[in-house]
Amino acid sequence: MKNIILFGPPGAGKGTQSEFLVEEFGFVHLSTGNIFRHNILNKTELGVLAKKYIDEGRLVPDSLTINMLKSEFLKYSDSVGFLFDGFPRTEAQAKALDEFLGQEDLKITAMISLEVPDEELLSRLLERGKSSGRPDDANSEVIGNRLRVYHKETAIVQRYYEKQRKHIVVNGLGSVEQISSVLKAEIGHF
Ligand code: ADP
Repeated sequence: MKNIILFGPPGAGKGTQSEFLVEEFGFVHLSTGNIFRHNILNKTELGVLAKKYIDEGRLVPDSLTINMLKSEFLKYSDSVGFLFDGFPRTEAQAKALDEFLGQEDLKITAMISLEVPDEELLSRLLERGKSSGRPDDANSEVIGNRLRVYHKETAIVQRYYEKQRKHIVVNGLGSVEQISSVLKAEIGHF
């Protein structure tokens, strides 16, 4: 069983690449962003709580995020493997992930970071905002906030996996197909 974290800044291509990886490896794809958006759409209690953070480009508090992800994970614990996308985004989330995987005798195989420079991220997110219907993509101030939060709070999570020798970096610039074949090859090695 392979359990992969697909990591990287907003706009790095995690969602796009996840679709290819799910098709190739049969992963259960757990995207915190998608789950939050689903809850917002359905006006659940979690959605209402999360919305104000997401609309401002801030992180949803750890306790909410961790509980939500853990209960999603437990629904699929008989899966062939998990692809975590958008989680963990803080060290507390990384520790919680190890803990709840451990309770099921599972562990993270690798964290793969897609690296893309900020200028490219900004233009991709603004472009995506024209059609995604995501309010957090439509406003350059909110996008700027998300990139700042990534550099200040989230990027350091990579160190947690570097220390465990589980961190791999992949260049996120190039065609979707090129990047997808690099990712498939990397994951295929495990
Ligand atoms: P992106 O990677 O493009 O920012 P996501 O769909 O992963 O998009 O996340 C959208 C928003 O949801 C984030 O800006 C943040 O507010 C919230 N969010 C997603 N994942 C987490 C997380 N692990 N911890 C806290 N907040 C999160």
